[in-house]
Amino acid sequence: MKAFYANEQKRHKPKAYLSSGTARPHPEKPERVEILLAGASSAGLTVERPKNHGLGPITAVHTPEYLDFLEHIFARWQRIDGASAEVIPNIHPITRNGSYPASAVGQAGYHMADTVCPISTETWKSALWSAWSAVEAAEAVKAGAPSAYALCRPPGHHAFADVAGGFCFINNSAVAALALRRSAARVAILDVDLHHGNGTQGIFYARPDVLTVSLHADPVCFYPFFWGYASERGEGAGLGYNLNLPLPHKSGDAAFLEALAIALRRILAFAPEALVVALGLDAFEGDPFGGLSVTTLGFSRIGEAIAGLDLPTVIVQEGGYLCDALGDNLTAFLTGFGGRRGPG
Ligand SMILES: [Zn+2]
Repeated sequence: MKAFYANEQKRHKPKAYLSSGTARPHPEKPERVEILLAGASSAGLTVERPKNHGLGPITAVHTPEYLDFLEHIFARWQRIDGASAEVIPNIHPITRNGSYPASAVGQAGYHMADTVCPISTETWKSALWSAWSAVEAAEAVKAGAPSAYALCRPPGHHAFADVAGGFCFINNSAVAALALRRSAARVAILDVDLHHGNGTQGIFYARPDVLTVSLHADPVCFYPFFWGYASERGEGAGLGYNLNLPLPHKSGDAAFLEALAIALRRILAFAPEALVVALGLDAFEGDPFGGLSVTTLGFSRIGEAIAGLDLPTVIVQEGGYLCDALGDNLTAFLTGFGGRRGPG
């Protein structure tokens, strides 16, 4: 299997991170990349640099207004007298029925869901290359590869069509899904990250052609708080095409695999022509977020079970933070997946 990654993805170095009102070191560190690269190479993957795919595949997911914001907000922010070194909003509209603000401060609040996705000078470039890694993996699968891995960093699944949030700016899994959708009538996205894929859900909520399924820690007292409940099933033509499987906190392999079996049955019933796996590794028992208790062996079983769908598959990296087994967990997933599917 090929992996895709560009060095520009390491340049984004978020510093500000507010959790339960306390400033802490930001967990989405560039150091994650080296560990994930080593994990992919231990599983036998070869890493290639993606091409510059331009904005085309990204505008399929995000609004032009939002992409313009992401590209230019850092420079605009720096022109504010006494502005911080990173763009961090201090006000948010509680609904979207007001007016679109003209100022940098107003737009930061409009387009950023929370304070944990600070934008610095390199953020736009890193996010673009991260998305292009996802596009390249989707193109490889469209060209006949059974599967491909996109080492996306920064991650993407908390980004909505016009809102950043939760360390995410461009929704790489959604970008990959719509790149696949150009030649597949139906595409499923299976999100196994510790956190609910709220951005991905929001992007496809009214669409019956992209099924979104997410396994995650129960959001009742966990990010993203407002989404991720089992009652969220889609709307309009998309009703019934979103499935949330929230798990009690600290659930381990058995509970995760049981929920995964439900997810896989739903995906099979949808009969997609291609699959995107939003692969977070933060459901690990030793991950600093500590929400679930999946083991390294568990990731191997998760990979194996997903491979059983036998679908053309793009694996997109989402979360998974610095801990001893981060690289091993990626190796375990990819080995489990590849072991069942064979080389390719
Ligand atoms: Zn996560």
